[in-house]
Parts: sequence; structure tokens; C-alpha cells
Amino acid sequence: MSRRNEPVYLDHQATTPLDERVLEAMLPYLREEFGNAASRTHVYGWRAEAAVESARERLAEMLGARDPSEIVFTSGATESNNLALLGLADASAHPASGPSARRSVVTVATEHPSVLDPCRALARRGHPVDFLEVDPLGRIPPEAMSRALRDDTLCVSVMAANNEIGVVHPIREIAALCRERGVLLHCDGAQAVGKLELSVEGDGIDLLSVSGHKLYGPKGVGLLVVRKHGKSRPRLEPRQYGGGHEGGLRSGTLPVASIVGLARALELCLAERESETVRLAALRDRLFAELAAALPGRVILNGDPQARLPGNLNVSFEGVDGDRLLADLRGIAVSSGSACSSALPEPSPVLLALGRSPALARASLRFGLGRSTTPQHVTVAVESVVAAMARQSPVA
Ligand code: PMP
Repeated sequence: MSRRNEPVYLDHQATTPLDERVLEAMLPYLREEFGNAASRTHVYGWRAEAAVESARERLAEMLGARDPSEIVFTSGATESNNLALLGLADASAHPASGPSARRSVVTVATEHPSVLDPCRALARRGHPVDFLEVDPLGRIPPEAMSRALRDDTLCVSVMAANNEIGVVHPIREIAALCRERGVLLHCDGAQAVGKLELSVEGDGIDLLSVSGHKLYGPKGVGLLVVRKHGKSRPRLEPRQYGGGHEGGLRSGTLPVASIVGLARALELCLAERESETVRLAALRDRLFAELAAALPGRVILNGDPQARLPGNLNVSFEGVDGDRLLADLRGIAVSSGSACSSALPEPSPVLLALGRSPALARASLRFGLGRSTTPQHVTVAVESVVAAMARQSPVA
């Protein structure tokens, strides 16, 4: 996949390349099968609809949903997270929900901005919102979650796996807590689906967000599972009105090729999940061990050493200037683990939430290993970091 002289791609939590097999599945729907899945009067529409409905059925099954109508296609996890949180809150504010409707929301300080920002918007509109702190390993203290649930809690939003530090949260336990208290659980599965075992029925998730491009599928497509309880499902107010597509929850002509690609991408991830988990965890552990051996006392692991994504390694480096370290890295494409605006790199709020100092948070790298990562890439990464560190004089 890599072209000559291109840096080795080690940023698979940011995005993944489109798998050739996914592209193959999509191509007919980018060429001759161009119909609108909502066209009911001719064969072009019927064939597009059949492709969408087949993808919907397979996705529902793979995600542990009982009924294909629980799948709502969106443009990605950002939209799914917004639809879940704002949709639930707006429905709770609807006069039909009555004055005693539950209105408060609980989330976690280390969530993705596409969860935190809608939650902040809800707080500005008067919804009580709790942003739970994590412990120094990025875990949610179970008693803190339990304490945060109130009689008026509408929903809890917790990601299955963190995009920066790879920490995997105990979704099934959190779901049990929510169920006991009659609270809905929304789970951002963008980093976890296809990599960890996750099932909306099996785990007790009410709303699950999924993104295509984290799964070696196309960008610009995702879905929200809205799990039904019997015949009813959580009330959501749409964010986008129009032709009433997706059960009225998300109007807009469906991107048929992308939806076909999303289903194929998840099939491939699940088929290869077990072997990839073992392979990536071994490469990731080797990367950490070699960095730690080459730079003794200067490499600090961020996040839970046990409960974490197999392809994620986030480390801070002692005694270096983070901005210079990044600027000096050669031959690898990694992320600083910080939300960078080009002019003003801010330390990552996730690393600050673990208690890292701003300087250490800035001197951090996120390595995202994936399907294309080889043992040779790990060697290149270690050499690159060691050389960049050697070019710096240590800072006090
Ligand atoms: N949630 C998490 C945990 C993510 O990592 C991302 C992508 N960075 C998103 C949500 C947003 O996904 P999308 O790009 O599909 O909008």
C-alpha cells in the first residue's frame, strides 16, 4: 500500500485506508447501479434499494440488533452521536413527553468532541450534564457512574474505546447499571466496532454509533443503531427533515455505494478480528518494549495497560519539547495525540484528564497500528523516535 518514500502510516485511529475488497463491492454502485434507493417505480431504484436493505440486514445481524429497522444510516459517527444525544434531548423537551420527562445527561471527560460538544450545547440549553472524571489510567470509576445516575437521567453516553489512548470501557457493566435505573445508554463505537466484541442486544446498548472510515470502509458513511424494546424504540427528534428517509429519523438520499461498502468492511473486520487482535497486540507490545528499552526511564504509557485496543499505543516522552519532537520525526505518520490547530497546538484534553502535565501531554505520540502494519514498520517507528529524541538536547 505504501508508496516509495512515503512515511509509514501509523495513524489508524485517525482513519484507515479503503480495503480493496470493499472498493470492489462498491464499484458497481458507483457505475451502472446508480439508482436512487427511494425510487419505487423502476428497476434502477429497486436494485439500489435491494442493495441497501441487504447491507442493513447484514449490519443489524453483525451488530447484534434484532431488527434491520434499528439501523439508521448517517454520514458518520459525528452525525450519529449528534443525532443520539440531541435527538433524545429534543424529544424529551417535546410537550408530548410531559413536564416530568427525564432531561439530564451523563458523559465522560475523555469522550470524543462529537459527544462532548453536543453535551455542552445541551448544558447551554438548560439540560443538567455531568462530565465524569477518569482515573489516571483513563478508566471510569464505577461508583462515580453509579452516583451520577439520578431520577431524571435521560441517558448516559460512554465510548466503547477511546480514540487517543485506546482504553476500553466496561460497556456491559455500565449498561446493567443504566438498565437498573431506567436510563438509556448511548455508546460511541467508532473505534471499537469491528475490533472488539460488541452487540447491542448482548451488551445492552440502546444507541450505538458506527463510522465507516475507521473500519477500512469509505468516509462519509456511518450509522446509528436505535435498539427497539419490543415494538417501541427510544424517541428521537430528527436533526434533519425532508423526505422521511430512515424511518423519518434522517432524511436524505442514501449513498448506496458507501452503505454497501460499510457492510462489506464490517464483514471483513469481523472475519479477521481474532487473528488481527493477536497480531496487532503483539506488534504494539513490541513497539512499546523497544521504545522503553532504547529510551530508559523516558517513555510513559498513557492509558490502561490491560483494557485497551490492540492497535493503539499512546506514550509520553520525558525531558523533550513536544513540538520539536513532532517536527523532528522522519519516516512515520503518527498523531501527536493532541487536538492541533496548525498555529497553536493545544495539549490533548484526554491526556490532561489523566493528570499529565501540559508539557508531558504535548510530548506524546499516538501510534495507530492497523491492517497494513508490518514488523518492519515497528522497527522504522522505533528508529525514527530514537533519532528524533537524539537530535534534541534534553529539557529540564
Ligand atoms: N468518535 C470517535 C471515538 C472517533 O474516533 C471519531 C473519529 N475521529 C468520531 C467519533 C467521528 O467519526 P466520523 O469521522 O465518522 O464523524
